[in-house]
Amino acid sequence: MSNQERTGSDVIVVGGGAIGLAAARRLARAGRRVTLVERGRPGEEATRAAGGMLSPLAESPEPGPFLRLGLDSFALWPSFAAQLEEETGLNLDLRTEGKLLLALDTPAAERLRRRGKWANREGLSTSWLEGASLREREPTAAAAVAGLHLECDGQVDNRTLAHALTRAAAAAGCVILPGATAHTLITSAGRVCGIRTEDGSEHTADVVLLAAGAWSGRLSGLPRSLPVRPVKGQMVALALETAVVRTTLETEACYLIPRDHRQGGLVWVGATSEEVGFTRGTTLEGRTSLLRAAAQAVPALAHASEAEAWDGFRPGTPDGLPVIGPDPDLPGLIHATGHFRNGILLTPVTAELIVRCVDGTGDPRLGPFSPDRFSNV
Ligand SMILES: Cc1cc2nc3c(=O)[nH]c(=O)nc-3n(C[C@H](O)[C@H](O)[C@H](O)COP(=O)(O)OP(=O)(O)OC[C@H]3O[C@@H](n4cnc5c(N)ncnc54)[C@H](O)[C@@H]3O)c2cc1C
Repeated sequence: MSNQERTGSDVIVVGGGAIGLAAARRLARAGRRVTLVERGRPGEEATRAAGGMLSPLAESPEPGPFLRLGLDSFALWPSFAAQLEEETGLNLDLRTEGKLLLALDTPAAERLRRRGKWANREGLSTSWLEGASLREREPTAAAAVAGLHLECDGQVDNRTLAHALTRAAAAAGCVILPGATAHTLITSAGRVCGIRTEDGSEHTADVVLLAAGAWSGRLSGLPRSLPVRPVKGQMVALALETAVVRTTLETEACYLIPRDHRQGGLVWVGATSEEVGFTRGTTLEGRTSLLRAAAQAVPALAHASEAEAWDGFRPGTPDGLPVIGPDPDLPGLIHATGHFRNGILLTPVTAELIVRCVDGTGDPRLGPFSPDRFSNV
């Protein structure tokens, strides 16, 4: 080891987004000595860029392990948010009133109907709306042919979530090191024993939790390449004098999230999905496509003004599923990454699963999300 600074912990968490912070908080509350290294400031990457939707069903193309994990996490959200609010005094504005999927033409309505059918077979409550019932539910969605209301859906203020998790993790005893970039995993006798940061400091621990979002595959010393890639998303916030959208709406081209309910007419519109590496910044094309899709879904939004635009990098994986669990080849390394479009939804359940990985108890739900599946990549 170098003669630079050394610090010892039970667990080092690499990455201070929602996933790393939530795991760090949970581990610290369970009595572990935790150090979290964050390259920039906690919560400023995908976690801040997100829409904050909690959408297990809308995000599942079909029934399967992702839907089950998402539903488990959705069920954890009320108590998770309440505890965080109690620990920090911050208001996460958790809302669980559901989401309305809108079909703007007949083929889209057919696809919605199929989704409603399999959701009902899975025991999930939905309601089919058209004509007067649709206009009554969402008067401004005039252009829609039909709608499917999903009960198990909601949203949270993801920007406040990042602050709350940072505050709660620190209050639980986690040492948070902003401006510290993990560069290399350090191993000894075939297992992980810490990390070296870019400034040459070494931090020792029995366990390293890799939670670096879209950048996770860049850490040196991983036992094999980790196929997590950035999938850029742009979003736009629209401001109107009065609220025109009651609940979160989603078409096949965009979603519309009513935000900041204290201020009336703010609507977040998302999101593009772009394979452009780590190229930052919003583009005219990206913003225009979102504005067009928003006005198509809710014509009144054509009169809104653009209040803000931003972008971020989702941590994408080849199969679209997160990577959660112990590394199959390197004892002491645990993965919590690849949460793609659903890292906010999956924050509470991921933190619980990580505690079980660190304790060594494991969890049968981990199977489909194990890093094993990339062994031959
Ligand atoms: C436009 C957009 C909209 C989205 N909407 C939703 C939504 O509505 N609902 C939902 O559930 N999800 C949504 N997501 C996805 C969600 O934001 C992510 O899945 C989630 O934030 C991932 O959290 P994370 O902690 O893994 O990653 P991040 O929040 O990106 O955090 C990773 C952290 O690791 C740090 N880091 C990277 N490399 C290093 C290193 N070497 N050393 C130290 N630190 C490092 C980074 O600086 C960063 O802070 C959206 C994403 C985008 C981009």
